[in-house]
Amino acid sequence: MNTTLQQRIIDELTKGLTVPSCEEIEQRYPPRELPEGAEVTRLCPSPTGFVHIGTIFTGLLCQRVARQSGGVYMLRIEDTDKKREVEGARELIASQLGAFGIVPDEGLQPDGSSKGDYGPYVQSERQALYLTYAIELLKNGRAYPCFATAEELEAAVNDQKAKKQRPGYYGEWALWRDRSDEDIETALEAGKSFILRFKSSGSHDKRVTISDRIKGKVELPQNDLDVPLIKSDGSLLPTYHLAHVVDDYLMRATIIMRGEEWLPSTPLHADISLALGIKPFKYAHTPVISILDKETQNKRKLSKRKDPEADVAFWLQKAHPIKAVKAYLLGLANSNFDDWFREDPNKDLDDFEFSLDKLKTSRSPLLDMRKLEDYAKDVIAAMPQEHFNKQILAWTEVHDKPLFDAMMADPEYTKDVLAIERGGEKPRKDVAKWSDAPEQFGYFYDEIFSERFAPAIDELLSDVPADVIEVSCKNFLESYNPSHNKDKWLEAMKTAAVTSGYTFDRKALKANPEQFHGHLADFARIIRVKVTGKANTPDLYAIMQIMGEQRVVGRLK
Ligand code: GLU
Repeated sequence: MNTTLQQRIIDELTKGLTVPSCEEIEQRYPPRELPEGAEVTRLCPSPTGFVHIGTIFTGLLCQRVARQSGGVYMLRIEDTDKKREVEGARELIASQLGAFGIVPDEGLQPDGSSKGDYGPYVQSERQALYLTYAIELLKNGRAYPCFATAEELEAAVNDQKAKKQRPGYYGEWALWRDRSDEDIETALEAGKSFILRFKSSGSHDKRVTISDRIKGKVELPQNDLDVPLIKSDGSLLPTYHLAHVVDDYLMRATIIMRGEEWLPSTPLHADISLALGIKPFKYAHTPVISILDKETQNKRKLSKRKDPEADVAFWLQKAHPIKAVKAYLLGLANSNFDDWFREDPNKDLDDFEFSLDKLKTSRSPLLDMRKLEDYAKDVIAAMPQEHFNKQILAWTEVHDKPLFDAMMADPEYTKDVLAIERGGEKPRKDVAKWSDAPEQFGYFYDEIFSERFAPAIDELLSDVPADVIEVSCKNFLESYNPSHNKDKWLEAMKTAAVTSGYTFDRKALKANPEQFHGHLADFARIIRVKVTGKANTPDLYAIMQIMGEQRVVGRLK
């Protein structure tokens, strides 16, 4: 293309925006001074709605790879698709990553500020940089203007369909790839609009081998697609393909960890890189998290529409300890994590030696919420008491003010309540998330008990006649003495049970069921339900000791 025509294209393209030269840019983004082997990773979500749990997964791995190698983990917001952008989504990404402690070394911070010398870390603020490299491609013959109208492109697609050809702008369907300067001038004179397309160098029937840290060696067709470089929506923003190459080059990323849906585009990205004289990147395409479909029981990709688990907000709302969720995600990535973690859930997750290579074996890791719950129970059971108390109170303060107020009204009592069956050989494992607090501790507090637990008692004891319940409670209270130790308490319980028509002799019960109301356990259930409003609780003796005589008597009367 002659230089005057080239300049006209550039002027049209930049619409008067001043763009820096490649040299100026290179100076502004010098190579990083990092130790040998340090990896610079980047997490690049688009602010198009809620944050996907896959973003947390990839973010966690990006952070690990960077930290373990003494490198840098960046967060870049890819907001070039202005039509799909959702207000507030950018802030949500930063704050939810923050909630998981996956705070980037560079880029948007949870408080909304930005950090780092290789910014801006928001793509819409890097417009001039992309234009510089787009122009560079034009100048070295690796980009050209395409004046094809929407109708012409549609006709090409229909033609491809009719001929059963692969869709796309390539080969004979690349309408403007080899046009003369005259054709371009005529189109410009006619005031036609154009987009800038990349001039591919590959051939679809030839293969290139991509070496991916997770997928291994992958053979893919060479790139012959002449993709748009700058969007046609008038925004002057780049397409993902150009943006990825320019940003990751300038930000000096050393390994591109991104979702595996991008794997097929890798030859295109290598083609663009080489056209700009940039060494193609190292890649690590991360597997997508899958789930068992509730209806078909088949494994499928987590769906934004169908699965609440896809949304990070769902996880935060459930309020499992963050450590447990991170541990679970690390376990999905590296199968040896499980053994390492189960040795001692108090270990610092940062001490686990994460390996990208081991991710190979976890093809589309399967989300199993039950396993996550187990992790969470272990984490909570192993947590130091003080930390546990703090987390419970922090959750209730925000989500259950009445319970929080009741807890704070008697801090000493609350301390005992929260410590019940924790520590020791076999700590309780019925708390999997902070949002379990009302269910697990609410009944200890009288107002909460009468409002939320007492109403369930009739239903829970619907199989026991009212007079039997009454007599059982009366008899229990007659033998109950708060100063009894556990053995004596149990003796008294047995006596009361027998007096009330229950037996601890299973054989006798089996032989003559009509003679008894039931087994000792059935008697204990009545007392438990009356005292707590629940069918399952920690040790009833321990509960009564903490509640104290007045409360126990009050509830059994
Ligand atoms: N913005 C792209 C996406 O959300 C990121 C791909 C990448 O990490 O390069 O899919």
